[in-house]
Amino acid sequence: MISEAKPTVRTFDIAVLPGDGIGVDVTREAVRVLKAVAPALDGINLSFHAYNVGAAEYLRSGNPLPADALEACGKADAVLLGAMGLPSVRWPDGKEMTPQLDLREKFQLYCGLRPIRLYHEQDTPLKRYKAGEIDFVIVRESTEGLFSARLSQTDAAKGEVCDIMRITRAGSERVCRAAFEQAMQRRKHCTLVDKANVLPSMVYFRSVFDDVAKEFPAVKADHCYVDAAALYLVQRPHTFDVIVTENMFGDILSDLAAGLIGGMGMAPSADIGETCAVFQPSHGSAPDIAGKGIANPIATILSAALMLEWFELPGALNGAQRIRHAVETVLADPANRTPDGGGNLTTTQMADKVIMSL
Ligand code: ATP
Repeated sequence: MISEAKPTVRTFDIAVLPGDGIGVDVTREAVRVLKAVAPALDGINLSFHAYNVGAAEYLRSGNPLPADALEACGKADAVLLGAMGLPSVRWPDGKEMTPQLDLREKFQLYCGLRPIRLYHEQDTPLKRYKAGEIDFVIVRESTEGLFSARLSQTDAAKGEVCDIMRITRAGSERVCRAAFEQAMQRRKHCTLVDKANVLPSMVYFRSVFDDVAKEFPAVKADHCYVDAAALYLVQRPHTFDVIVTENMFGDILSDLAAGLIGGMGMAPSADIGETCAVFQPSHGSAPDIAGKGIANPIATILSAALMLEWFELPGALNGAQRIRHAVETVLADPANRTPDGGGNLTTTQMADKVIMSL
């Protein structure tokens, strides 16, 4: 008797961290989209487990990143995060809590991937650009750079405070390599954004970038100072394909880039390490619109697509493509916008449109 082999089904465990403010709303909608696409993910099951984190959790338990959530993130196949932190909730020393940065450092999520794509001409303030004509990726180093100074002790009584920009060879090599790998899958152009005309740390970063570039002869590699990059991103964003940069520069340029395609609600992101990856929108908890049900969920929905892509299996890649296509179809109609894009859809209505289009 010939027995038919059962098709293998792989279950991916997803730790869901809604967090604070609009993080809760947009994560809920992204999970709904993932559940809607799940039946089409050949050979793949998605299993979701939610954990409390963030400023609200700090108020409840005294810890914005409790041990159970941290452990779950380490064990999960991926983490879907909303946003963490609220300006009104601070550590006793007055600093705002940033558990998302702790996560990046704890799990060494060095590759901050921020794809920037214009889906409709009405969403950009740059009037000469049509859908698809702004399409680049920022790869932000996310474990060192100027942000590594954030936990240093300061003594303001000395009349001087210093923040150190930490650039290591290992940290720079791995992020530059990740950027070139992105470029290989795209238009084969990788630009280092630095400040090598002023800062020794950036001269060093550039030398590592140039070394890594030799491993990728098919990719055109060039450099741009960060101030000029801000100018060119506004004047001619179509000339960028992959940008790799230091943590703080990446933080700033990511917001500028989101502004080119309709704002923070349109900009997905992934923080990827060797064994763990966190997928979240580029935006924060947006306290100004929290609780109103009007946050744009597109950034988080596109981050969920990035997550499926990261799973790499054909069924998951297909799911990622379906989500992107559904988003593209929905945004093709300028009436389909939440208030940040000039429309009047609620967060849930926008996600409903994507689900309908899947
Ligand atoms: P963080 O420093 O934590 O990244 P932030 O201070 O940059 O946060 P955000 O929370 O990202 O601030 O919000 C910046 C602006 O963008 C706010 O005006 C906010 O309302 C708007 N915004 C952010 N996300 C969305 C969204 N999903 N939909 C609509 N507007 C948004």
